[in-house]
Order: sequence, then structure tokens, then C-alpha cells
Amino acid sequence: ARQPIMAGNWKMNPSTEADALNLANGFVALLHEMEDTCAMDEVEGCTEVVLFPPFPFISKVKDVVGKAGIAVGSQQVYYEDKGAFTGSVSASMVKSVGCEYVLCGHSERRTLFSDDDVNINAKVKKTLEFGMKPILCIGETKEEFDLGITKEVCAMQVSKDLAGVSKEDMKNVVIAYEPVWAIGTGLVCDPESANKVHQFIRTVLERMYDKEVAENIRIQYGGSVTPESVDGLMAMSDIDGCLVGGASLFADKFARIVNFKQ
Ligand code: 13P
Repeated sequence: ARQPIMAGNWKMNPSTEADALNLANGFVALLHEMEDTCAMDEVEGCTEVVLFPPFPFISKVKDVVGKAGIAVGSQQVYYEDKGAFTGSVSASMVKSVGCEYVLCGHSERRTLFSDDDVNINAKVKKTLEFGMKPILCIGETKEEFDLGITKEVCAMQVSKDLAGVSKEDMKNVVIAYEPVWAIGTGLVCDPESANKVHQFIRTVLERMYDKEVAENIRIQYGGSVTPESVDGLMAMSDIDGCLVGGASLFADKFARIVNFKQ
């Protein structure tokens, strides 16, 4: 069985360090209150929880949530190791402040910051090289959805973004299927449709690697996940977790999402 993984992508929120620590503290306090939570146990089968704060807050958020068994990750890294790349942050840097995960290929990076499949591939590999785990985000736009080419888009992104990644390294890769039309719109994908795409992604991985990789990889769903929609999504056979944006900015909502009901 695949271990569930719930992640909160704070994006460019909250605005201050004080607000970020408030959110982190509030979230941890609520998890402690929830009786049946297993998010904080490092027991096999329990839910893994990861927060993706903005760069300036990573260290201090890690100090708050690390003790509760919650991991932190970086929303982005550059694929070069070091040097004259003003404004960029390297894999080594985020690793050294405690990041275990890195988001690669988020749709906002693809559309607003010109990430393409070639540099996303380089970032996935750099993340793995530094012993961290990439969460590779893929998914079709509204236009592609309307054209009925969701599978083609996902297959292409998976094959290009993971090109040259070894079977061994695939043990540390997570995929997040985030239909772009569902992100920040309140239009959550219906669970059955999302599950079909997840199953299709596994067939692509089986062709690229083998059945073992396809069966073992964890695939999250992302796009307008809320406390109301999480249980239905997590009831699906091939949805192993959620990548949550807006709702992760509310300690109570994210605590409920993490404690989804089976
Ligand atoms: P929302 O949950 O706000 O739709 O964002 C999803 C997302 O982009 C997570 O990475």
C-alpha cells in the first residue's frame, strides 16, 4: 500500500514571517487536538504531511512543525549548483535549511516564470541529486481539457519531465496531477475523473519503467481541494494524497484535510 501524502503549497502567502509562524503554530496545535490523527506518527501507513512555505520562512516554519513530524519543502529550485544567478535559489541551499521535498513544474511556474519541460527535467534531477524528493506537477489547461487531450498532455509531461530519471530514483518521486482549470477556481475535478487520469499516468510509467514503478509511485491530486471534497477524492483507488493551495492557508481547513476520513 502507498503511504498517503498531504501537502500544503502556501505559494506567495502569507505576507509576513509572523503570519507564517502563526499559521504553522495553529496547524500543529490543531493536529495535537485531533484524537484520531496519525499525521504526526512516524508509523507506517500514516499520512505524511509536507508544507511548502515561501523561501524566507522555511527555516522557522521547519523549527515549528518539524517536532510534530511534519516535513517542509521548497516551492522551487534553480537547476544550477551556484553562481551568478541573481534571485535564484539552489537545491543545496534549500536542502541545508531542512527541505525534504521540492515542487517541480507547478503550473504557475510554467505559465508565469517560463518553466518548460526541459528545465523542469533538470530541476527534478537536481532535486534527486541532492537527496530530496521532487513533487512533479503536471496537468492540462482548460483549453486542453476542452479539446479532450488531457491524457496526451499528461503523458507528454511525464515522459519529458522524468526523462533520464533512473528506476531507483523513481522511489523518491511523487507526481501531482493538477488540472490547471481546477487550481484556485473552486472547480474541483470530480473524483472518478481524476482517478482515471491517475490510472492513466500509471500506465505511462509502466511503459517508461515497469509495473513496480507504476504501482508504487504516489500520485496526488491538486486543484481546489477543501475539507468538503477531500474524503471523496481520497476514497479513490489511485489518489494517494492532495496538493493543497488556498485551503492550506487556514490551519483548521488544512488540519481537516490532513485528517481525511477513509
Ligand atoms: P488551490 O488548492 O488553491 O486550487 O491550489 C492548488 C495548487 O496549485 C497547489 O499546488
